[in-house]
Amino acid sequence: MGYDLERFVGYVNEGLLCCVCRDVLERPLQAPCEHAYCDACISSWLIHHHSCPEDRLPLDISTLRPLHRYMRNDLSRLQIRCVNSGQGCDAVCCLETLHTHEDECPFTFISCSSTGCPVQVERRGLESHLLECEFRSRACPSGCGHTLLSVDQSQHNCVAELRTELELLRAEMLGKVEEVRREMESRLDSQRRHMVQKESMLKSEVEDLKGQVSRVMCDVRAERLRRQELAEAELEKRELLEMLRSLQPCRGQRNRDEPIRGLENQPAEILNKVC
Ligand SMILES: [Zn+2]
Ligand SMILES: [Zn+2]
Ligand SMILES: [Zn+2]
Ligand SMILES: [Zn+2]
Ligand SMILES: [Zn+2]
Repeated sequence: MGYDLERFVGYVNEGLLCCVCRDVLERPLQAPCEHAYCDACISSWLIHHHSCPEDRLPLDISTLRPLHRYMRNDLSRLQIRCVNSGQGCDAVCCLETLHTHEDECPFTFISCSSTGCPVQVERRGLESHLLECEFRSRACPSGCGHTLLSVDQSQHNCVAELRTELELLRAEMLGKVEEVRREMESRLDSQRRHMVQKESMLKSEVEDLKGQVSRVMCDVRAERLRRQELAEAELEKRELLEMLRSLQPCRGQRNRDEPIRGLENQPAEILNKVC
């Protein structure tokens, strides 16, 4: 929708009017047939039509272009009254700067700046509204540090508020202490479990070593026994050799061809046995 022609001061060239709404072009676009329209007007027209609303020539949205430069200049220089002229704003400015004015126009209705306040006031009346706005918040004048809404200022009690806050802080602190305690406990627990495990491991190692030691002792004892037996055998062997040697001279006195019966093979046998 374009700007109401009534709002303009002075003559407005007909070429600056929208072919759809017949008001002054707002965000204008131009068709190849040279007809111009507001962006919003032609966009909604082309939803149901495929032609220029003025001359019925075929028209596609993709062929729309910005307005000719000289027309744009003419348009932006048009003098227009503020949209709030009905409320009392007598500002007249060129179309180009209209939005800048309207953004700051003292007659524009705006929402109250207090959070939650549903009141709409003229920009110029905001300050006085804020003085009595029920949703305006400010720091407690007694200095407790709380932010108060004007509505519940009368019921505000600094001591009660601070007590509540203190309770909350205390609960929070207790919670934290409990949390730390639980964490420490669980850490200790896991260390304890670890120690028990280690202890049983060491015990089994000790048992293992004991077994090894007793096996070694057994071996040592067996070895000692074996050596003793060997020494005894050695001794026996020596005694037998000694005995043999003491038998040798008797042999010489006897007839060589007549060995003592039953004794002829004995020395060799004995030697074999000992060795
Ligand atoms: Zn229009
Ligand atoms: Zn046309
Ligand atoms: Zn204004
Ligand atoms: Zn308010
Ligand atoms: Zn207070």
